[in-house]
Amino acid sequence: MENSEHSATGQVILVGGGPGAADLMTVRAMESLGQADVVFYDRLAPTDRLKEWAPRAQLFDVGKRPGHHRVTQENIHAMMISAAQEGKTVVRLKGGDPFVFGRGCEEVAACREAGVPVTVVPGITSAVAVPAAAGIPVTARNVSKAFTVISGHDPLSEEELAGLAGIGGTVVILMGVSTLGHTVAGLQRHGLPAETPAAAVEKGFTEDQRVLLAPLGELLGTAATQKLRSPAVLVIGEVVALAAAEEAHGQAASSQTAERLRTALDAAAI
Ligand code: SAH
Repeated sequence: MENSEHSATGQVILVGGGPGAADLMTVRAMESLGQADVVFYDRLAPTDRLKEWAPRAQLFDVGKRPGHHRVTQENIHAMMISAAQEGKTVVRLKGGDPFVFGRGCEEVAACREAGVPVTVVPGITSAVAVPAAAGIPVTARNVSKAFTVISGHDPLSEEELAGLAGIGGTVVILMGVSTLGHTVAGLQRHGLPAETPAAAVEKGFTEDQRVLLAPLGELLGTAATQKLRSPAVLVIGEVVALAAAEEAHGQAASSQTAERLRTALDAAAI
């Protein structure tokens, strides 16, 4: 039915906003915002100057906080689609990259099903960028030739834990704060040594960024005493020791943590 008015149909642009810093948005993301009539944005996307970036647009916060689903996914689809069907250019601004655990795939499918033109603007994913903000490279020659990005939204299955422990390389976990205890215990049960270097990087690229460094066996305790909160990216693997080495040479980490990791570093002969 809507298709008979096809000429009036607008479009939906799914935009990855990167990990939180405004200047880590792409040029194409900025250009999309500049032409938007409506913006539906998430909690993790950079939004501080949204009025400036999308001067013509109506702005809607559809962000979800863990445990508090403010706007349902179905409602987001319905709002985007009906705005586009009114002829509007709709930007759906999401944190990181739209196709990394962002339900971007479902949003694209919903638009296609409704006959609404939809395009995707990739973004810098927190899976790689947030570790980097803490000086952690997800790969490093002779240290890690793989990184596995996994969602900790639901507790990992035994197979997943065994697979992660077995593949080697770097494990990166998003949405993993509330399941941290299960993950850490499971990885050790499946053979990762308790002294494997690990980190939690909270609120990467914001003024409140915090980096917790601890060997795997102590990560849960450190997270509890330091009151680790979402959003955070967890990184487990020898590459974390590279950041620890950097910190040990200068900056913020407590000397105790640095020392513990220095030991891990020596053990790994990096
Ligand atoms: N599409 C996003 C990920 C969405 S899932 C991306 O590509 O980055 C949401 C999770 O991403 C959070 O729970 C957290 O694990 C991670 N995350 C996103 N931005 C973050 C940030 N600035 N600091 C720390 N973690 C972040």
